[in-house]
Amino acid sequence: MTHPLAPSKPQERLDAGRPKLLVVDDQPLIIQVLYQTFAQDHQLFMATSGAQALALCAQHRPDLVLLDVMMPDMDGYEVCARLKANPATRDIPVIFVTAHNDEAAEAHGLDVGAVDFISKPINPKIVRARVKTHVTLKAQSDLLRSWAYMDGLTGVHNRRYFDEQLTAEWGRAVRNKAALSIVMLDVDFFKRYNDHYGHQAGDDCLRLVASAIKNSLKRPADQVARYGGEEFVCLLPDTDLAGALLVAQQIGQQIFDLQIAHADSSAAPVVTVSLGVCSKSGTATGSALALLSQADAQLYAAKAGGRHRTCGTEIQHEK
Ligand code: GH3
Ligand code: MG
Ligand code: MG
Repeated sequence: MTHPLAPSKPQERLDAGRPKLLVVDDQPLIIQVLYQTFAQDHQLFMATSGAQALALCAQHRPDLVLLDVMMPDMDGYEVCARLKANPATRDIPVIFVTAHNDEAAEAHGLDVGAVDFISKPINPKIVRARVKTHVTLKAQSDLLRSWAYMDGLTGVHNRRYFDEQLTAEWGRAVRNKAALSIVMLDVDFFKRYNDHYGHQAGDDCLRLVASAIKNSLKRPADQVARYGGEEFVCLLPDTDLAGALLVAQQIGQQIFDLQIAHADSSAAPVVTVSLGVCSKSGTATGSALALLSQADAQLYAAKAGGRHRTCGTEIQHEK
């Protein structure tokens, strides 16, 4: 996988800000017209069959699909219905491009999830205008969606996002017989911190803690979310208990190294956290919920054991 900060190639740089548009039509002439209309300010993908269109959508996640209705093998309605049935592609808007000019066809298209219709022969001005409208709406809804998954205070993901990711990663780990770990952590004596330094300072402290956690996670697949008030959780795919304990200790150390004064803490003169780890080995079974609740129990054990420490376990069978 490419490192997110690696310098991109010139074409990638050029494409970065341009909306991705997929044009699907079995007639090369139509593709050519649409290509000329959009090539300059869009990143264009082209497909001449429904199957190819679905594959390109899964791989490239375009911002908009211009979809022919009449195609051999799989028609446009079927392609659209399949895109809408797949959580990974359901948010991609689809505009039908059709020679039909009848209301029933249009109603059916809207029924299967299209946002608009454009009729052939193509009028480039009209197509451009409609595409622009829907690309703008898509960008806005992408932004809203990303906000819905973000914690406003710290800028890391929120609990809703984490819960969805945990379900997905648990399923993946079971299918692939892969390891999966959770690290839960909670700031020690944070009520006293607020009482002593004020709520504003408490908020600043949580932001620093969040970025220290982010800095401790080295793999691109690792994720952190704010789980509750002063509680964070990390999801570590393909990581066994030994690896997760190491990550947890690094997180604890990074936060300690911030050296944020905490005069009222009984654990240390600076802000510290307690951490609980639970791991699923490649072959283990159980459930995402058990992984989470056992990580929480380990966190509780770390608190009970004196705070500013890590406790961990492999996932246990529930009685
Ligand atoms: P423990 O070591 O057992 O975790 O003790 P604690 O005081 O950290 O735990 P407790 O759950 O009693 O208190 C958590 C406090 O975290 C209560 C609340 O004032 C504070 N808190 C929760 N969310 C926020 C927030 O968004 N901002 C600030 N400033 N404080 C918060
Ligand atoms: Mg706490
Ligand atoms: Mg708490």
